[in-house]
Amino acid sequence: MAKAAKTTFRCAECGWTTLKWVGRCGECQAWGTVEEAGAPAPMAVASAPVTSRARPITEISVESAEAVPTGVDELDRVLGGGAVPGGVVLLAGEPGVGKSTLLLEVAAMRAAKAPVLYVTGEESAGQVRLRAERLGALSDQLFLAAETSVATLASHVDAVAPQLLIVDSVQTMVSPRPPESPAA
Ligand SMILES: [Zn+2]
Repeated sequence: MAKAAKTTFRCAECGWTTLKWVGRCGECQAWGTVEEAGAPAPMAVASAPVTSRARPITEISVESAEAVPTGVDELDRVLGGGAVPGGVVLLAGEPGVGKSTLLLEVAAMRAAKAPVLYVTGEESAGQVRLRAERLGALSDQLFLAAETSVATLASHVDAVAPQLLIVDSVQTMVSPRPPESPAA
């Protein structure tokens, strides 16, 4: 038997919640506004169509889990051999250390073999092209898009079908608000 969910208490004024009843709201400091709110509603999860059916483990190819070298030796060493297909790597660093330049180099090397989509949210496509020219990183397989909408980004991914997607930078991307979760 699962344990019953804990009762919570909620401030009628500001909505602040607490697991213990208190006489004064910890948020808006109002007295006597905290009342029992009942157990938190369990999160509803709707089933969704599968993207690929589950298969016996013996049928799974290990190729898709092997790291593909990026071509930049130092980056490959940090990544443990390269980028894993389907994997996500978050590259962080101080502004100006050369993240965009490194990514453009990686993009160009990968683009020699397969389509690469480089989405720039900080610079214009023209600026990125200029840097690519300086680096000798021009390639017909390197696709550029100046975009800050996650929804539009997804459409570019559908159109280009890249083997490598670079988003520079992820904090410039905005997505539509997710639907409100059912009120507790
Ligand atoms: Zn309150």
